Amino acid sequence: MPPGAPGEGGSEPAVDRLEAAAYTVPTDALEGDGTLTWGSTTVIVVQVHAGTTTGLGYTYGAPATVQVIEDQLASVVTGRNVWDVPAANDAMNRAVRNAGRPGLIAQAISAVDTALWDLKARLLHVPLTRLLGAVRSKVPVYGSGGFTTYDAEQQDRQLRKWTEQQGIGRVKIKIGESWGRNEHRDRERIAAARHSIGETAELYVDANGAYTRKQAIRLGPYLEEHGVTWFEEPVSSDDLTGLSHIRAAVTADVTAGEYGYTLPYFAQMLDAGAVDCLQADLTRCGGITVWLKAAALAEAHGTQISGHCAPHLHAHVAAAVPNLRHLEWFHDHVRIEELLFDGTLDPAGGTVRPGASSAPGLGLTLRTEAVQQCRTL
Ligand SMILES: [Mg+2]
Repeated sequence: MPPGAPGEGGSEPAVDRLEAAAYTVPTDALEGDGTLTWGSTTVIVVQVHAGTTTGLGYTYGAPATVQVIEDQLASVVTGRNVWDVPAANDAMNRAVRNAGRPGLIAQAISAVDTALWDLKARLLHVPLTRLLGAVRSKVPVYGSGGFTTYDAEQQDRQLRKWTEQQGIGRVKIKIGESWGRNEHRDRERIAAARHSIGETAELYVDANGAYTRKQAIRLGPYLEEHGVTWFEEPVSSDDLTGLSHIRAAVTADVTAGEYGYTLPYFAQMLDAGAVDCLQADLTRCGGITVWLKAAALAEAHGTQISGHCAPHLHAHVAAAVPNLRHLEWFHDHVRIEELLFDGTLDPAGGTVRPGASSAPGLGLTLRTEAVQQCRTL
């Protein structure tokens, strides 16, 4: 720890050690969106130890993230005062200057930051939502999946599970199949989705950046006709001008932000007027520390924020910010989190209640036997 760092010299708890591992879980069916298809998903889990207490964090990404955590971050965090998570986050940022922060390295920082917040809450014996301070006890979620690789029957079954069985009144499907070259099927699947969920549930679409600007604008009236109120990444989220043009031309909310790895990224997106609702992913943007700042940035721009993927990590921070829209109950990640962790949340009725069980921290416990079977690094 550098001289003068917060907590230096006291007898307060310090980080003893840190470990990381990668687990790869096959999907239950081939999953794809407008611009990518995958048959397995890797989660990188970090455990941070202080005495007999362990904090847990994770990110979804490449197995090489484990090496970054071990080689670049472990020595930065070890020995630090557990209470001062922002100091650890700041030190990690400084340490990776020459390694290049956006991308995989930001994901590594995110996982460690999250584990440190979990550790702090566990040492204080409070749920993370209590440590952060909540503005709500129930966090709205939306069902997310509807992959382009699904056939009509699979899509219908998944959407009805969310709306009819679980009572989730908001669902999202992927469109933009084959980089926007199969728009006819996109339109068929949107109409089928509306039929599956009925007239009252909210219907969202996510093109994952597959369309051209004009193609997205031409689709606008069709989306409106089918009551689609959320149009995520109609074009690349790097095309802020395009997003803002589409935003002006369609009635659905235009949303993006899932690839934000730094705070200035969100500031630029908001300053450009590119989104109606900012998305941010705490497993990428720098962890809980930075997600809270992104939420504040959005609030200052009169914009709501939505938590992207990894629903069990976002539930607690989602409860802590006033301008939350909802968080993404992403099929792939829900399945993995239920497989690897005890203490997962129930979205019945369309909300989750982080901290309701009074379990400390994130309330998650790694299922040791289950994880050993899918460990890859
Ligand atoms: Mg998306």
